[in-house]
Amino acid sequence: MMESSGRKIIHVDMDAFFASVEQRDAPALRGKPVAVGHEAARGVVAAASYEARKFGVRSALPSVTALRRCPDLIFVPPRFAVYKEVSRQIHAIFAEYTDLIQPLSLDEAYLDVTANRRDLPTAWATAKEIRARILEETGLTASAGVSYNKFLAKLASDQRKPNGQFAVTPDMGAAWVETLPVSRFHGVGPVTAAKMRRLGIETGADLRDKPLEFLQANFGSSADWYFAIARGIDHRPVNPNRERKSSGSETTFDRDLTLDAEIEAGVLGQADDVWGWCERMQGFGRTVTVKVKYGDFQQITRSRSHSSVVDSRALLREASLMLIRSVLPTQRGIRLVGVTVSNFEHREPRTETLPLFDEAVV
Ligand SMILES: [Mg+2]
Repeated sequence: MMESSGRKIIHVDMDAFFASVEQRDAPALRGKPVAVGHEAARGVVAAASYEARKFGVRSALPSVTALRRCPDLIFVPPRFAVYKEVSRQIHAIFAEYTDLIQPLSLDEAYLDVTANRRDLPTAWATAKEIRARILEETGLTASAGVSYNKFLAKLASDQRKPNGQFAVTPDMGAAWVETLPVSRFHGVGPVTAAKMRRLGIETGADLRDKPLEFLQANFGSSADWYFAIARGIDHRPVNPNRERKSSGSETTFDRDLTLDAEIEAGVLGQADDVWGWCERMQGFGRTVTVKVKYGDFQQITRSRSHSSVVDSRALLREASLMLIRSVLPTQRGIRLVGVTVSNFEHREPRTETLPLFDEAVV
C-alpha cells in the first residue's frame, strides 16, 4: 500500500493571515485579540489573531458570539487589496523555487519541489528557506507541511503552527494518519464527520478498519478517496495555474426526497459549500446553476445569469432556492442536488457576510 512516487510536496500556509497583516500594519494591535470582520449585528468573523483564538474566537463565528467570548476583542474591517498584494508577494517567492504551484486560497498553496530550481538537498530545507524569505519580504510568518503527497502535506502544515514546519515521511505516513481525527481530513466536512461518528469512525485508524464495501455503501463515490487517505495515499498532482471556470458542489441524499423543505435544505447546504470556495479563492460568478438528478437517474439543470456577480452568501442562497423551486413540488423522488457558480469575475465580496476565510483553527 506504500506510495513510492518519490514526490516532494510542500504545503505553505500563512499564520492567521488577515489578522497577522492587520497586526503587522498597526502596531497597537500586536499582542491583542483581533478579529477581521464587522462588529455589526449580522457580522461574522473572517479571521482571528492567535490572541483571540485563545478565547474560542474563530473564523465563521458570528461577531456577537465572538464578543461574548472575548469582550476585549478588537474588530478590524478587512482590506482585501492589501491581502492580495501580500499573496502576490508570496507567490513570487514560490515561483523562484518551482513552476508547480497550486494556490488554494490567498494564503495557502501546494508546491511540488521534487525538482526544485535552487538545487536544495531536501524539501525540508526548501520549506525553511521559503518561510524565511516570506518573513523577510512581508514581515509575516508562514507554516509548512512537507510530505510525499498533497493530503499529508496539508495535514502536516497544521502540526507546528504558528511559524513552524513538520515533515511526514513515507515510512511514517500511514501510521501518522491513523492517529488523527477524521474531522481534520480533506474532504471530511462537519456533516461527513458527524455521519462518520455515527458509524463509529472517529480516527484515521477507525477509517482504515472499514472495508471498501462498507465505505461505498455509506459514502457512495467518496468511498475511494476515504479508503486511500486512511492509508496516507493521494495520487493527485500539484496542478499549477489551474484557472477554474466554475465551482460546484453536489450531494447524493441517503434516500430519494420528495418533501420541498428537505430538498431546499439540501440545495442550501451545497450553496454554502460553493460560497466557501468563492470566498477562499476570491472568485465570484454571475451564473448560478442548480442540478437535479431524480431517482431514475434522469438529470435536469436550471440556470440563471445575473447582471452582476453573486457576491454574498445570502444572494447565492436566494438564487439557488429560486432555481430549485422552479422544479418543486415534485412527485418524483430526487436523488441528488448540486449548485454551481460560473462566469467568474474577480472582485471583493460584500463584507457583511464573510465567514470561512481563514485556515482551520489550530
Ligand atoms: Mg492560513
